[in-house]
Amino acid sequence: MDEISRYSSGIVLNPDDLHPVIRDKDVETAKIAEKLMKIADEARKYSYSPYSKFSVGAALLCMDGTIYTGCNVETAAFTGICAERNAVFKAISDGRKSFAAIAISGGKHEMESGYCAPCGVCRQVLSEFVNPFEFMVIFRGVTGDTKAISFNEMLPYSFGPEILE
Ligand code: ZN
Repeated sequence: MDEISRYSSGIVLNPDDLHPVIRDKDVETAKIAEKLMKIADEARKYSYSPYSKFSVGAALLCMDGTIYTGCNVETAAFTGICAERNAVFKAISDGRKSFAAIAISGGKHEMESGYCAPCGVCRQVLSEFVNPFEFMVIFRGVTGDTKAISFNEMLPYSFGPEILE
């Protein structure tokens, strides 16, 4: 097992196929969204959420094609972390800071919540690292339909690092 796969999901998509796909938002985006969502579903199985019973999994696609997964982790003291930040921090810890998309799967009692979108804290963390017009957020409704929107649609007028330049 190499260094990358030890810490990430071990899944690498071909970046040549990927970048134009994500940017163009054409029909291929649906395929990428579907793949990422399946990986998020797998990550969700590792969720430690005995208190809320709301399990979440995330799959973060880096610009080089590497995918990092994350699940939510709760504690009795009500501290913990969301799946999205878990995935982002894993990637950052591994030297990756350039991201293309994130898929999020979540709901209570292993059901679908219907468009499990990132919380405000996770949105702020993502805004630190992503191009808001290119980064895609992918989530799924209760009927299984997948929605892919740009980060800017999710957090317009965000406070990002460019403001401090
Ligand atoms: Zn969050």
